[in-house]
Amino acid sequence: MTTSHPLADGHAQILLVGEVAYLVPTIRPDMPPRLRRLLRLRLEATLKGRCSRCSATATAGTPLAPRLGELLIEHEGWCPVADGAVAPLLARYWSRRPRRTTGDDPG
Ligand SMILES: [Zn+2]
Repeated sequence: MTTSHPLADGHAQILLVGEVAYLVPTIRPDMPPRLRRLLRLRLEATLKGRCSRCSATATAGTPLAPRLGELLIEHEGWCPVADGAVAPLLARYWSRRPRRTTGDDPG
């Protein structure tokens, strides 16, 4: 079972998959189609543990606490979902949105 819990600023959500929680960017319907597609590919890589584009695999990062750790996926530089490709698109999207107000639907 998967449930989604948006964070207060709407930029990210906690995705609960069974007993595992993932902190992932929110994918909003008003995002540009390319950004939505790239975020879905990143989410798929996170959940499957392997990127369908560059074949990078997930590794465990430094544990943050007992039973709380980081999942790292080091995409190849050319990968369309690498941080360097997606982060600027995300930053541009959020910079053009008005500040979230109470009651705004985070998507
Ligand atoms: Zn990749």
